[in-house]
Amino acid sequence: MERLNSEGILRYQLTVALKDRRQVLEARKVDTCMLCRRRGVSPCGLCEICYSGLEGEEFRLANKWLSGVGP
Ligand SMILES: [Zn+2]
Repeated sequence: MERLNSEGILRYQLTVALKDRRQVLEARKVDTCMLCRRRGVSPCGLCEICYSGLEGEEFRLANKWLSGVGP
């Protein structure tokens, strides 16, 4: 999946972003998805739609955030 608009981060940068505590916390603070800039994010800094498209390492990292463990 490519990024959905020019404001979000590139998809290939997502693994890095999910390991970056500062980036995830910032996305949560402004309540804006790191990938598509949609409002309303879960504790992993992504909206429901982007979260549902995660796979492999991204999915594992996102779930660490969701379980409260962090990066
Ligand atoms: Zn999104």
